[in-house]
Amino acid sequence: MSLAARTFLCGYLLACPALAVVPAPNAYFGHEIGADKTVLDWDKVVGYFQALAKSSDRLKVEELGKTADGRPFIAATIADPDTLRHLDRYIAIQQKLADPRKTTAAEAEKLVLEGKTVVLITCSIHATEIASTHTAVEFAYRLLTEDTPHHRAILKDTIVLLVPSQNPDGVDIVTRWYRKTLGTPYEGTSPPELYHKYVGHDNNRDWYIFSQPETRLTVSKLHNVWHPEITYDVHQMGGNGARLFVPPWLDPTEPNIDAILMQEMNMMGTAMAAALTAEGKTGVAIHGVYDFWTPSRHYMAFHAGLRLLTESASARIASPMVMTQDQIADTALGYNPRERSWNYLEPWMGGTWRLRDIIDYQLIAWDACLYNAAIHREELLRNFYRVGVRQVARTEPWGFVISSKQADPGATRKMIETLRFGQVEVGKGADGSAVVSMHQPYGGWAKSLLERQHYPEDRLYPGGPPKRPYDVTANTLPLLMGVDVKTVDKAVSFSGEWQAPAAASGPTLKASDTDSWMAVNRAWKVGNRVWRDSATGDFSLTSRRLEGTEAASRGALSAMDRQQYG
Ligand SMILES: [Zn+2]
Repeated sequence: MSLAARTFLCGYLLACPALAVVPAPNAYFGHEIGADKTVLDWDKVVGYFQALAKSSDRLKVEELGKTADGRPFIAATIADPDTLRHLDRYIAIQQKLADPRKTTAAEAEKLVLEGKTVVLITCSIHATEIASTHTAVEFAYRLLTEDTPHHRAILKDTIVLLVPSQNPDGVDIVTRWYRKTLGTPYEGTSPPELYHKYVGHDNNRDWYIFSQPETRLTVSKLHNVWHPEITYDVHQMGGNGARLFVPPWLDPTEPNIDAILMQEMNMMGTAMAAALTAEGKTGVAIHGVYDFWTPSRHYMAFHAGLRLLTESASARIASPMVMTQDQIADTALGYNPRERSWNYLEPWMGGTWRLRDIIDYQLIAWDACLYNAAIHREELLRNFYRVGVRQVARTEPWGFVISSKQADPGATRKMIETLRFGQVEVGKGADGSAVVSMHQPYGGWAKSLLERQHYPEDRLYPGGPPKRPYDVTANTLPLLMGVDVKTVDKAVSFSGEWQAPAAASGPTLKASDTDSWMAVNRAWKVGNRVWRDSATGDFSLTSRRLEGTEAASRGALSAMDRQQYG
């Protein structure tokens, strides 16, 4: 190619990026999105978002890392081109609003006027709940190509962070099983294997312990960087009641979550319900089924963000479900699916229910969520700052002290790392203890994880049995991990950041230390032998007499090997 031709081409590409045609989903995937008996492969979904990024200046896509099984874990960012060019500026605004110790009320007010509402949408964490990955594809395409008043408002006043699947491995597990069983009696069933390699369905109970790579990527690269004002987590439920659930939530609600956030979840949820009803969609339930107690699902709500949830009635994966009127349930938590009530105004009384129906409801819910995020931008950002102000003002208790003298130093270190991963600041006490003051933006999060939960006394009728809780009722890390933590009501001095002490050295590995068990496994992995004192249970990686056990003399050293104990 001649120099002139090359110059021409570069100039052409630079000048006319908008000329690239944004690929339509049906052309790219080879079928209408949500057509009966069609499902999506994860590599095609990734390829589609990359194609969108190439053809539009309103969308960027990033691989945040790899899943448990090594698939790409991606997030798309969607906003006006001018916003997308200055994402660092908007991240800085969010980070300043998130910490009122560093930002005065007057500074915050300026940032409120300048900032955008950041909305994170997470899809299909439960991989059989396939619809929202489809909705992500279609919604992104529409937002990039359809010029509507809502879309203009969304692009102008929000930044959308879109995770098309929170569990990409599960997308392929479910897709493979669905195609394999099409036309058999098993068509439309859940796969017989876990749809997440390690934790299955409880990948959505990981938001306080952060054990899985997908959780860690979303928390460290999206929540902790962007501090979204809203996280909208898109799910599906059983198919014999409401067509869609939206907040308000049921009681109990976790006491450390700010009341401003609870009110805003009520506001946003009912706005979404109103939009669905206005579009003629029946079977919309609010204030039913789902409580707001366990932090294991609600990381964002302890970090000044709303958690919106929708739960759509499921089809049989991508096969239609036919429901007769008498198959509709006559009871559900908080509403009766057969009767009109204030929180279930238009019952859905049966018919055919398809994947495409779920997508159609979700498209309206997403549009309503983002449109309201746009038009309430100022209040949402101002209140985001206010929640931080109220958090750092907490004085009861003053905080928590984690002594340096612990039976299990490994678990203690791990617990403190877990708190820090959730952005809790941990100071160093004079005696080497770890100090967690409540005077910090995520003090309520630390408090919820470190204090003992008292699940409310909630009975079916006076003197009757307790109502069955929806989910986990306690999450006290010190009890779960065997760490001694003291609640303190008076100020404790600390300076700098707590540092983990050096791991114990010497031939003896205390059996009470979680780290010892990892050291034993590491030794086995490279083919070494391990000895154990039968009296104390302590380990040694050498055959030398275990330190401190000779005096006891009851201890008999025995060699362990993997076959015996592994
Ligand atoms: Zn779910």
